[in-house]
Amino acid sequence: MFTLPSLPFISNALEPHISARTLEFHYGKHHQTYIDNLNKLIVGTALENESLENIIAQTTGVNEQAAIFNNAAQVYNHNFFWLSLQPVNTPSVPSEQLLTLINTSFGSLDNFYSEFKNAASGQFGSGWVWLVKDGETLKIMKTTNADNPLTHNLKPLLTIDVWEHAYYLDYQNRRVDFVTAVLANLLNWEFAQTNL
Ligand code: MN
Repeated sequence: MFTLPSLPFISNALEPHISARTLEFHYGKHHQTYIDNLNKLIVGTALENESLENIIAQTTGVNEQAAIFNNAAQVYNHNFFWLSLQPVNTPSVPSEQLLTLINTSFGSLDNFYSEFKNAASGQFGSGWVWLVKDGETLKIMKTTNADNPLTHNLKPLLTIDVWEHAYYLDYQNRRVDFVTAVLANLLNWEFAQTNL
């Protein structure tokens, strides 16, 4: 059975870019609901004692298991999202190794930011934008609904949730403003480094 992981920061640590109110709903209600639903769906089944990654791998693309896939992947994605964020008062910067990879893959850090924003605004409906490692290259990837890079055999380094529930209380329809604020102020580059 899965439980809600503790947040790596207090609920107002991301203000003013993500309010405590948004965080409390997003983490305490949305993330918790995916966990509760997943637990209900797998109890007493062969998946009950599997890891999240195994559940995702075994249910992806299987029509009859779409509900399990969706909830398991949303649990994974939200676990990953909170770790992708860093409190405002302890900003982080990419390591030299990451910066070199960013420069070879995107040309510059600024180009990385604009490509990420383009992917966020181009994602129609709910989804996620990811920085992923594909061999020795970094790429930006957008996924729809609960989908994530694991199902495409890519290694996620960082993610931003672009479902409306991630930003609507603070930004209403201005998704790109939300993504711009997260990119500029809240990315946890040390977490990205540990995923390389
Ligand atoms: Mn979310």
